Amino acid sequence: MSARVLVVDDILPNVKLLEAKLSSEYFDVLTATNGPDALEIAERDAPDIVLLDVMMPGMDGFEVCERLKNNAKTAHIPVVMVTALTDATDRVRGLESGADDFLSKPLNDTALMARVRSLVRLKMTVDEWRIRETTANQFGIMDTGSNAMMESAAEAKVLIVEDKTFESDKFIETLDRDNDMVMPVLSGEQAIILSQEHEFDLITVSLNMEQEDGLRLVSHLRSNERTRSVPILMVGMEEDMKRIAQGLEIGAHDYILRPVDRNELLARVRTQVRRKRYQERLRSNYEHSLNMALTDSLTGLFNRRYLNVHFGRILANIAESRKPIGVLMLDIDNFKIVNDTYGHNVGDEILKQFADRIVQRLRSFDLVARQGGEEFVAILPDINPKVAMQVSERLRKSIGEEPFKVSTDEGLLTCTVSIGGAIIDDPNIAVEEALKKADDCLYEAKEGGRNQSIFAGYGRVKPEMYMNDEQLEELAEAEGVIPPPPMDKPSDVSAPKSPAEESSADQSVRPQAQDSSSQQSSPLGSTQQDQDRSADAAPDPQDPHHFSMPE
Ligand SMILES: [Mg+2]
Repeated sequence: MSARVLVVDDILPNVKLLEAKLSSEYFDVLTATNGPDALEIAERDAPDIVLLDVMMPGMDGFEVCERLKNNAKTAHIPVVMVTALTDATDRVRGLESGADDFLSKPLNDTALMARVRSLVRLKMTVDEWRIRETTANQFGIMDTGSNAMMESAAEAKVLIVEDKTFESDKFIETLDRDNDMVMPVLSGEQAIILSQEHEFDLITVSLNMEQEDGLRLVSHLRSNERTRSVPILMVGMEEDMKRIAQGLEIGAHDYILRPVDRNELLARVRTQVRRKRYQERLRSNYEHSLNMALTDSLTGLFNRRYLNVHFGRILANIAESRKPIGVLMLDIDNFKIVNDTYGHNVGDEILKQFADRIVQRLRSFDLVARQGGEEFVAILPDINPKVAMQVSERLRKSIGEEPFKVSTDEGLLTCTVSIGGAIIDDPNIAVEEALKKADDCLYEAKEGGRNQSIFAGYGRVKPEMYMNDEQLEELAEAEGVIPPPPMDKPSDVSAPKSPAEESSADQSVRPQAQDSSSQQSSPLGSTQQDQDRSADAAPDPQDPHHFSMPE
């Protein structure tokens, strides 16, 4: 780990000593001998951690720390205060000024290195979210400039693992000052059970239990999916320093030494709770803003912006998979008349149900996006012309043969759809060009009387070519592609929304909320499609159908 450490101390030999220790552990070391220099270097060189002396002439360590934490550019950098003072009041003051830890001189090497490594690791996680926040900012949605110090630390849910009740009672009493909801347990086993049932903001683990090793519990909590990101505060004694260092290595966030000073406990708990809440906020802001930016709020489908980027990736993948891609451009017939006759509310009802039906009739890894208005695009990877045409006919039937439920006097309204299709097998084709091929056919389908599918190079898909589920499955098997869900039984992974879900304001901005689209996992994360590809999309050289087009 070649993390960058900024060492700040007014006594040069102290600086040199720490520099030597850290360099021998392969850290990059920056140094400063006064507060103003430290602030300048921190802002310019973005260290991963600052080791800060408290007693300095002029600007002391507390002030430097406060300034670092109040500057958006440096607020996320962990600060460890280092001092000869051992008074608990100073430790608390350091923590309240935003320091992540407080170490006493002379420095215990093991404690120092474990602390530095653990804080650097934590920072990496936060950094990742900060990078994503920056990306999301480019979409112009996220609020910026927040930092962990602005989070509330009150009313946290804390789990205390401690076999001596007089110790846990002291914790409960102390944390009551912040209105924390504290649950004490006597063993690791009980802790594991409770942590599966509750969302804790912090777990404290005693390293001095009679019957068990608290480190074992720390390790378990770290590796468990549900508790992995819950901060852990170890409680130990001076002579446990080696084990505390080990605990920090395996992922505990902090520790406190017995006899526990109440103010220090409170300060350390607050620091951890704030940091957890900050990280959670970064994550949810990020997801929210991406969803806003990349999905269509009415239908929950991805929007044109996402389609363009993601379709580009799928196209680039043709070179590797050597399997053609189907592009369908779908446009609801005479939609303007619907809007003009019944109003936009009814139009919107139809758009939503239309989107749901399309998603239900496609495979989990097909991509559906709303281009705009009443125009939709479906991208069908790993398909061939015969199956793609069948898919297109199925979509057309599923729209035209079943009326939509709408809030008009009749309650039902039938709409049809025109579809233009293209099979793309050229990895060098541009996104716009690929879409245009399908769009040209859509235009033809409209001109030719609507309610039909036309494919580039093949012309109109004749309804009499339509196959039943069984025939289509046979065809798909012969062609080595995955068939769409059967007509009589749409895939229930994409069951339509319940009215309750639909009315939830929250849902409309989440891509996967769309219920209708289990296939559309996180926009920038790996999609089901990516997974399917890596799993079984390897081209079969024996299969003569790979690039063959039907006659
Ligand atoms: Mg000093």
